[in-house]
Amino acid sequence: MMRIGVLALQGAFIEHKNVLTRLGVQPVEVRLPEHLEGLAGLIIPGGESTTIGLLAQKWGLLEPLREFARSGQPLWGTCAGMILMAKEVVDGVPGQPLLGLMEITVRRNAFGRQVDSFEADLPVSVLGNPPFHAVFIRAPVIERVGAGVEVLAALEDGTAVAVQQGNLLATAFHPELTRDDRFHRYFLKLAK
Ligand code: GLN
Repeated sequence: MMRIGVLALQGAFIEHKNVLTRLGVQPVEVRLPEHLEGLAGLIIPGGESTTIGLLAQKWGLLEPLREFARSGQPLWGTCAGMILMAKEVVDGVPGQPLLGLMEITVRRNAFGRQVDSFEADLPVSVLGNPPFHAVFIRAPVIERVGAGVEVLAALEDGTAVAVQQGNLLATAFHPELTRDDRFHRYFLKLAK
């Protein structure tokens, strides 16, 4: 049975575990470097990116997570997880620990207070039809897409909200909060 890790320091990790279980994969809660052993991939959930980053630093996980990604294992960050994976963050907390894996610049809390949470149907070519119903919660956006990064989904105004760079996947929204598991299945294909 394929084992997929979910970083379980803070945030929406239980929801990701539930989807993985539904898809016949064994989810593994990752809190320490040794929990990464034997995993076919890892999901970094949404939550609060500063908190997740500081806890990862405290438990000595930052470098092992970078190593995991560099070895070619698939890594997927949703929302706060996407922030952690970015090389650059705008409007972050000064000094907030990042993994710095993807050639993207991400703006935290990009939608301000009035519309800090909303839902949108996004065409995602790698998922086919119908469009993907995406839930945004105090979401970041991707402001710069660097070399080697492919945009998988964008809002109507062209703002990128899902990207892939080889084995690295990042979504500004929360696929684990809907019944549509196509993004999880897409990620599992990278893990095979
Ligand atoms: N606003 C959060 C942050 O900056 C992310 C929100 C989320 O993960 N739903 O970390």
